[in-house]
Amino acid sequence: MTDTLNLYKQYRRKILAYKYVNFISSWDLQTEAPDGSVENTSRQLEVITEESYRIQTDEKYVKCVEKLYAERDKLDEVTAHEVEKIKKELSQLKNIPKDEYIGYQQLLNKSYPVYVKAKQTGNFRLFLPVLKEIVLFNKKLCKWLETDTLKGYDVLLDNYEPQYTTKEYDAFFDLLRKKLVPFVKETVRKKLKYNDSFVGKQFDAGRQKQFCEYIRDVMCFDKTRGVMKESEHPFTSGFGTDDVRITVHYYPEMVESAIFSAIHETGHALYEQQQDKCLNETLCCGGASLGLHESQSRFYENIIGRSLAFWQTHFPRLQQTFPEQLEGITATDFYKHVNKAQCSFIRVDADELTYPLHIMLRYEMEREFIDGNLQVEDFPEYWNKLFYEYFGITPPDDSSGVLQDVHWAYGNIGYFPTYALGSAIASQLYAKMSSDIDVDKCIRSGSTFEINKWLKERVHRYGDSKYPKEILRIATGEDFNPDYYVEYLIKKYSDLYNAD
Ligand SMILES: [Zn+2]
Repeated sequence: MTDTLNLYKQYRRKILAYKYVNFISSWDLQTEAPDGSVENTSRQLEVITEESYRIQTDEKYVKCVEKLYAERDKLDEVTAHEVEKIKKELSQLKNIPKDEYIGYQQLLNKSYPVYVKAKQTGNFRLFLPVLKEIVLFNKKLCKWLETDTLKGYDVLLDNYEPQYTTKEYDAFFDLLRKKLVPFVKETVRKKLKYNDSFVGKQFDAGRQKQFCEYIRDVMCFDKTRGVMKESEHPFTSGFGTDDVRITVHYYPEMVESAIFSAIHETGHALYEQQQDKCLNETLCCGGASLGLHESQSRFYENIIGRSLAFWQTHFPRLQQTFPEQLEGITATDFYKHVNKAQCSFIRVDADELTYPLHIMLRYEMEREFIDGNLQVEDFPEYWNKLFYEYFGITPPDDSSGVLQDVHWAYGNIGYFPTYALGSAIASQLYAKMSSDIDVDKCIRSGSTFEINKWLKERVHRYGDSKYPKEILRIATGEDFNPDYYVEYLIKKYSDLYNAD
């Protein structure tokens, strides 16, 4: 056992080093690397990918994992969980026919440019043949990876969010359909009155950056173990607790965009920075799942960052940064502006209230084309029909409809639901946190220190060393319960819209 464990640790050291190379080069490609470098860099990365694949499928290593898996009850908790995760990945790899897998990777490589062209021209038929192949592969994938308990769409869902399947998601989205859809329809009919004279004005990017850096400090992001830079699309990436990097994009005509991405990405970053340092040497560093990661970014972005207390505390600073643009605007005006609910076509631009309905639509479609009879040819029509049902409007073209997201072009089917799950988990954590500490008071103190501390203790420190369901139970004493989310949204938006 000791020998096996030592050998395993040697392999793990190498795997981590390869992961580091991938992290640093993908960060570089997305931020500083000149466009012309991509081709040569890709050639080097091919070698790295091959080598890393070779190590992770090495017979000695696989045997090692199997041995440890058989005796996992004798391992410490973190290693046991780690071995269980790797065992699952390895057996999945074994069950996918190699030529099919390679063919699929090639398909995905060519799918992105085709998708972009289809989106630019609003021509779904251009993307149709590729998307058909992607869907077909994913249906086959469900067959190859099925287990006694996981079949069909559940296989894909579980891959993105372990232990969450149609059982949880159906109940979740049924609740949204029943309670939230009518509430949204009623709310968007009302008009939110406030002074919006700053909308459309120019906000200097350099000053936006100053304000985002101020917010980053309010949130106690550790600058000695992280950086904030710029990129086309904001993201967070990291390697362990001591190297966490986030990006923002500054739009001069839309000051709130960079602010909320800074808060969102810093939320992701805090989750990484606040994990137990001992996880750095393991494959259990990083978030426990996509949904749990999103729960942290959305907790800070929406529940903290879009609260009245937050803007009553920090709006004066924003106004000092942009005295001309924000002349005569109050904290309440700004608060209303960043929470205004409206039915719009694009998911990424949606407000906090209507956002989950965009996800519900995608979930229903995926469920229908993986487990049901929905054909790829009928996607646009199906999309528009559901869209009308939930939002009462029809997209003018497929670019603002079925073609708006890149996920399916990347083969990510089963990914979308984790976004809404993240928001719901955030609300559940918020309910529990509010029973322990005075969250409003913490926000008004000018720093999120106490809030960070609560999340570190109950969520962050575990990293990826437990399943997300287990962490949620530890943090809240309950299983996933979407009632908190619906209650939170209805309360927030009723207060907001009935205030006048
Ligand atoms: Zn995010």
